[in-house]
Amino acid sequence: MEQSHQALSSKAEVFIEKENKYGAHNYHPLPVVLEKGEGVYVWDVDGKKYYDFLSAYSAVNQGHCHPKIVGAMVKQAQTLTLTSRAFYNDQLGPYEEFVTEYFGFDKVLPMNTGAEAVETALKLCRKWAYEVKGIPENQAQIIVCENNFHGRTTTIISFSNDENARKSFGPFTAGFIKIPYDDIEALENVLKSTNTIAGFLVEPIQGEAGVYVPADGYLAKAKALCEHYNALFIADEVQTGIARTGKLLAVHHENVQPDILILGKAISGGVYPVSAVLANNAVMNVIKPGQHGSTFGGNPVAAAVAIAALEVVRDENLSQNAAYLGVVLRTGLNEIASRNPLIKLVRGKGLLNAIVINCDEDSDLAWDICMKFSEYGLLAKPTHGNKIRLAPPLVITETQIHECLGIIERALNDFR
Ligand SMILES: *Cc1c(COP(=O)(O)O)cnc(C)c1O
Repeated sequence: MEQSHQALSSKAEVFIEKENKYGAHNYHPLPVVLEKGEGVYVWDVDGKKYYDFLSAYSAVNQGHCHPKIVGAMVKQAQTLTLTSRAFYNDQLGPYEEFVTEYFGFDKVLPMNTGAEAVETALKLCRKWAYEVKGIPENQAQIIVCENNFHGRTTTIISFSNDENARKSFGPFTAGFIKIPYDDIEALENVLKSTNTIAGFLVEPIQGEAGVYVPADGYLAKAKALCEHYNALFIADEVQTGIARTGKLLAVHHENVQPDILILGKAISGGVYPVSAVLANNAVMNVIKPGQHGSTFGGNPVAAAVAIAALEVVRDENLSQNAAYLGVVLRTGLNEIASRNPLIKLVRGKGLLNAIVINCDEDSDLAWDICMKFSEYGLLAKPTHGNKIRLAPPLVITETQIHECLGIIERALNDFR
């Protein structure tokens, strides 16, 4: 890699070298070694403080180490951590009641990571297709979108079109049809062409692809088409959910209630791996004992943590904050763009935003800009080459947003 590296302290270098030597090289991190987080800030091993504008891919919406969430985790960890689902525990039922009421579904199936929740949703959708819709065994197909990101399992990468994520991992799982994102006509054409469609899996905003926001009305129209053709509308809100885009769920911008809702990341506030699949009885009841599960899914710590994390979202009005400050941030970014042609485009919703840098996708410029941000005290990372996602924790204040806009403009001006 030709990318620039700022001078690292010898302390930081030790940690980076250990990861390089002993860890698989499946990531390419920015050369910053963090040791502490609080709210919107993280600190590196040399005591330097940064604004976190990645929020662990939107897992830390509630801010780093939120005392209420960490408190719930510590309390439960000292009492009972894991029973497996071979027995009942006193945390899971109350959590299931809480989370289903919170999002308005009959039932939840608890898992741990986002990819597991996506896998669960795909299995649930197929089973529903065979046992309720009546598609002949092994013929069900699920529609997905180009440039999707739904995780890293073999089945999920089967319908990715990121060659880097797929190459040399085949053979792949069959049964998926890919259509362009934000293309209602393409969706209807597939739905009407066959009666073997089980569902449509979609990100309400494509986060990893570079924060692509579909046209207004796309989600509502897609949901209506799914209803018309008796296919399940499956929303992957692992990144867009839990207040990130200025509503509790991104589908709420269009008053859509998915048939299957997939949540992860911020459902725990980033303190513990928690994911969930929500659906109503007509769908969820196809799953019977022994047909799906997870040793850690729905464990007492996860249950206690998720309740606390969702209470924080509600009690601290994080949706409203994200909606309001998202406008402040994009307005500021557009003002910077009007003065500095390095920013080609600003897009996003709530506090899930991206700037597109005026360079080729394979240029190192976005990386170099992120290095400069880091030098000035703000952490962000390029996604797909020339896009930089800007997604701070939702507990950020207006004053802090203005300070961050100052950092961003100062860093960009260094490249003129
Ligand atoms: C991060 C993400 C996933 C995968 O979650 P993991 O916890 O990393 O497995 C799935 N879908 C979307 C939209 C995501 O952003």
